[in-house]
Amino acid sequence: MHELTRGHGAVRRECVYGVGVPSILWFRRDLRLLDHPALLAAVESARTDLDGKVVPLFVIDPVLWESAGAVRQNYLVASLRALDESLNGNLLIKHGDPRTVVPEVVATAGAKSVHISADFGPYGQARDESVESALSVPLVRMGSPYAVAPGRVNKDDGTAYRVYTPFYRAWMRHGWRAPAEDAPADVDWWMPMECDGFPTPADLGDIILPPAGEKAAWERWEIFRSLSLTDYDDLRNRADLDGTSVLGHHLKYGEIHPRSLLAELSDADEVYRKEICWREFYADVLFRHPSSAHTSLDTRFDDQMRWATGPETEARFDAWLTGRTGFPFVDAGMRQLLTAGWMHNRVRMVVASFLIKDLHIPWQRGAAHFMNLLRDGDLASNAHGWQWTAGSGTDASPFYRVFNPITQGLKFDPDGSYVRKYIPELAHLAGKSAHEPWLSPEGYSAGYPRPIVDHKAEREVALADYAAIKRS
Ligand SMILES: Cc1cc2nc3c(=O)[nH]c(=O)nc-3n(C[C@H](O)[C@H](O)[C@H](O)COP(=O)(O)OP(=O)(O)OC[C@H]3O[C@@H](n4cnc5c(N)ncnc54)[C@H](O)[C@@H]3O)c2cc1C
Repeated sequence: MHELTRGHGAVRRECVYGVGVPSILWFRRDLRLLDHPALLAAVESARTDLDGKVVPLFVIDPVLWESAGAVRQNYLVASLRALDESLNGNLLIKHGDPRTVVPEVVATAGAKSVHISADFGPYGQARDESVESALSVPLVRMGSPYAVAPGRVNKDDGTAYRVYTPFYRAWMRHGWRAPAEDAPADVDWWMPMECDGFPTPADLGDIILPPAGEKAAWERWEIFRSLSLTDYDDLRNRADLDGTSVLGHHLKYGEIHPRSLLAELSDADEVYRKEICWREFYADVLFRHPSSAHTSLDTRFDDQMRWATGPETEARFDAWLTGRTGFPFVDAGMRQLLTAGWMHNRVRMVVASFLIKDLHIPWQRGAAHFMNLLRDGDLASNAHGWQWTAGSGTDASPFYRVFNPITQGLKFDPDGSYVRKYIPELAHLAGKSAHEPWLSPEGYSAGYPRPIVDHKAEREVALADYAAIKRS
């Protein structure tokens, strides 16, 4: 059912000036061929001319490339390789500022249109507007990385939802179109100029990434659908189990579209549908508040909160970054991030709460570290996942709800196997005792650090700090 249609014919790298008028499909966060409205539009446009060809283009934009970090650089290159393979080696990769590169490709190819999936992020929107004004041909936006494009779900009075649950209901009422089944067949892909080749990503160290690309995304979906979807509601919070879809990176790079996943769900899968909707909600919030990528929506958190500073705080921040806080569930999560470029959602919430409410460090520092290491690092979901935990965002968790890092571990990793997997210094502790090494005579025999703070005391400090800004 999800076999890619591969009707591209022979590899075509020669320039064929004067035959037909080509169109360009500029790939960005849509590295797939299935259910791709912009691709269908590019093919349609090319076919209105006799023998029209489609130029599949990807631009390595130094601004995005340099800020991506080793994990996302490596993942992107793997995903581009998979895409190139499905294009029979015709992916035109150019390096440089899209504002100059895209018009150059248009001129060389003699193209009549450039087709894109719309980008709703702050950088992407500004970039597309600049490219549009530099082009002599239309920049045609069709589709987006979302089932419902940001800005479309509104209250009856036309204003935005600030709370998730009514957004979800309105998003459901709004609906989305069904996915197109196959990739377009017999496309005449064309590489009209020299390809700059795949960029060289930064060293990945010991991190092992899962397979990238559209085929890998569908394979992962099939595994999740057949083994875990039915139990998703029960298992999704268990850090020790493979109970979530682990599709975040595939969605981030558009190797699979959320609409395609939604079409596979039944009424019984509402909990999973709601998770997809969180992604849409946060994209909508970022679209309406672009500065919320880096600043708190509730500005008191940036302007008035008493955040900790000084050498002791920096040492604690370093312990958090390296998974040496002495709180096993927190450290296991931070080490999972360092070794897998991924962290379970429940643990993301716990480590974020620990940074903000136990160490009193602003969410932005944690968010930057996540963006640097998460393979699914996404500006909207990350900034607003952090702001939810901080209590500073739209429909945020209340600040006074402070996660207890020990009881969270006991609840969501009940026999300690997640902790033992990522913390070798605790591997000798059986069962749930891995969560509380201070209770075992052998707890610290393998060099695991003592807790860097007293959780109860720091919780009180956080609540007092919050009470102070609430009064203001
Ligand atoms: C502090 C913090 C930072 C986060 N940073 C990111 C990030 O950079 N990129 C990212 O994609 N998600 C982020 N999330 C949300 C969530 O943790 C991940 O989407 C999820 O863990 C990815 O694993 P999965 O694909 O197995 O999720 P599943 O549980 O299988 O969910 C399916 C999909 O739904 C979406 N989704 C699920 N939960 C959320 C959520 N709370 N917010 C937004 N989308 C959601 C994702 O696209 C996910 O892939 C963050 C959450 C927190 C608390």
